[in-house]
Order: sequence, then structure tokens, then C-alpha cells
Amino acid sequence: MKFAVYEVREDEKKMLNTLAERHHLELALTAGPLTPETLSLAEGAQGISTLGQSHMNREMFKAVAEMGIHAYSTRCIGVNHVDLKAAKEFGVSVSNASYSPHGVADYTVMLMLMLLRRYKPALWRQQVNDYSLGGLMGRELCHMTVGVVGTGRIGLTVMQNLSGFGCEMLCYDVKENPEAAKLGRYVSLTELYNKSDIITLHTPLLDSTRFMIGEEAIAQMKPDALLVNCARGELMDIRAVIQAIENERIGGVALDVFADEDGIYHHDRRTDIIKNRDMAYLRQFPNVIMTQHMAFYTAEAVDSMVACGIESLLAFNEGKSYPCQIV
Ligand code: NAD
Repeated sequence: MKFAVYEVREDEKKMLNTLAERHHLELALTAGPLTPETLSLAEGAQGISTLGQSHMNREMFKAVAEMGIHAYSTRCIGVNHVDLKAAKEFGVSVSNASYSPHGVADYTVMLMLMLLRRYKPALWRQQVNDYSLGGLMGRELCHMTVGVVGTGRIGLTVMQNLSGFGCEMLCYDVKENPEAAKLGRYVSLTELYNKSDIITLHTPLLDSTRFMIGEEAIAQMKPDALLVNCARGELMDIRAVIQAIENERIGGVALDVFADEDGIYHHDRRTDIIKNRDMAYLRQFPNVIMTQHMAFYTAEAVDSMVACGIESLLAFNEGKSYPCQIV
């Protein structure tokens, strides 16, 4: 069986080779996205897999179906780039990927600790032989109240991770999770904002969550509250966050995600003019940690994403059901 695999990163190749050997597959690999020009790579294939940069629109699904290909997988969780209705119309099955919540949950706790221990300015000083302690006094997690907003897969795992630190945990979700209720206390969002020393976001981006951290929410927080966002940039009104940092209204923020990060994060843009002013401005502060949407990025997660992408195409062709099928 042959599958065409697009947007292949170097770090995916080992697992792709393992799967090709294990399942006796011919895998046609390319680093480029799937476009009308690159579709010919899939000639004679029984399935196609991409990451998130290929535009899987109606024209693409029509062309894929016309080639006799009826299985498509995206090796990421998000399916914003896939026209699911069109896939259905042209009889192409769609699957996405899944991976364990531990990578993002571990990373979230790391960011909390980095903020608490003022790791960013400490690292700056190390690099210029400044070994002074002034301004670097930290705080201990066991004395903190942590507010977890969104207690799904990642939020719950964050709470499980934190349970070893001895901190108090408050949580909020539109749907309560009994496992989370064993570790923390569900409260209203207002109470969570009022009482938390650290607030961490783990909700999807929805109309109901967009800009949930704005002026009004910040006004309810403790004056030295720390905010962590490993979920989606648009959960925060970044202008309000900038104002709160400038006015020292909050203690710090750690962001693994940023509004309008597409085309910037995951690319080497060193010699380009980057037009995200908020990103450039916020980055400078000693109490602001920003990373390039990499909380998910572990060897285990990459292997799992590749395995989902290839094994779902295989299962479809063998007439078997598979857990990641969407269409
Ligand atoms: P999940 O679906 O398992 O959990 C989301 C939770 O949010 C659910 O319990 C849901 O009930 C809750 N929720 C929905 N609307 C809410 C609202 N208005 N207020 C409060 N809670 C609400 O999702 P997950 O897998 O835990 O992912 C959480 C977030 O992490 C998502 O935004 C996802 O995109 C993001 N994520 C980021 C990375 C990264 O690398 N930084 C990687 C994976 C996922």
C-alpha cells in the first residue's frame, strides 16, 4: 500500500520509517505542503497525510477523490485547515491525531515555576557573568493557590502534576470533571480570579472563551497574580495584559501561544520584518516569558501524531474502525 505524506519534518522521519517497515508500506515523503502542483506525488496512493499548512479545501478534496484516494489524515489535533463538509461531499474520510496531555501539562508547571523563581532575568544575568541575587527572590509553589480554568485532558493533568507540590487548587469549567473535583475545589470564575496566585488557562478557543482574560477579569485578580497560557493566544485580550504588565497590576505572564502567531511561530524569521507589535513589545519584560507554541513538542507526542496519521490511513484501507476518525 502506498501513502503520500506531505509537510514531513525531520523529526517525523524515524517514526515514519518504523511504520513503513512494520506495515510494509510505501511512503512517498515531501517537506512541502499539499497543493494542486504537488498532488502528483500521490499518484497511485491509497491515502494522503499532511500537517496544518496544506489547505484542504473543496477543490483539493475534489481532486483527491478524482485520483481515487478516499483516506486523508492530518497529523495534528486541530482541523481548522480542513473543509470537513467537502471531505464528506467527495467521500474522503478524515482523521486527526491525538497525543497524551502530559507534554503540555508538564510544560505548564515548568512555566509556573519559571515565573515564581524569576528564571528569565536570572538566565539573562548568568549569560553576562552577573551572579547577583537582587530582584530574583522567588516564591514557593506550596504556598500558592493555583486556579485552573478548563479541567479537560490538559487541565486535569496539570492538577495531577500539581498535587505533588502541596498547593491549594481552585478550578472552573462549564462542565465539572469528577477527577478534578478530587484534587481541587470548583468555584465561580470570579472567585477563582479573586483568590488565585497563579491562573492557568486550558480551555479551547470558542466564542465563549475568546478574550476571557481582559480588563474586567484582570481587575478581579490579586495584584501579584501570575498568568499562564498554554492554550490559545486569543483567550487573552493582549492589550489588556500589556497594560497590566506596564502598570504592575499583575505579577507576570508566561505565554506559549500568542494571537496571530501563524506564520511566525515554528519558522525561522530572523532576517524578516515581523509585524506583530504586541509580540515584540511584550517580549522585553523580565516578568514575561514567551515560547513558540512548543508545549506539545515532545518525542512521545511527535511519534503519536505520526502513528495516528499513518495507522488511520491503513485502518481505513483495511476496512477497520479507528479512534481518530472525524469524517
Ligand atoms: P479538552 O477539550 O480536553 O478540555 C477543554 C476543557 O475546557 C473542557 O473540560 C471544556 O468543558 C472546558 N471549557 C469549554 N468551554 C469553557 C468555558 N467557557 N469556560 C471554562 N471551561 C470551558 O482540551 P485539552 O486537550 O485539555 O486542550 C486545552 C487547550 O490546550 C486547548 O485550547 C488546546 O488548543 C490547547 N493545546 C495547546 C497545546 C500547546 O502546544 N500549547 C497543545 C495541545 C492543546
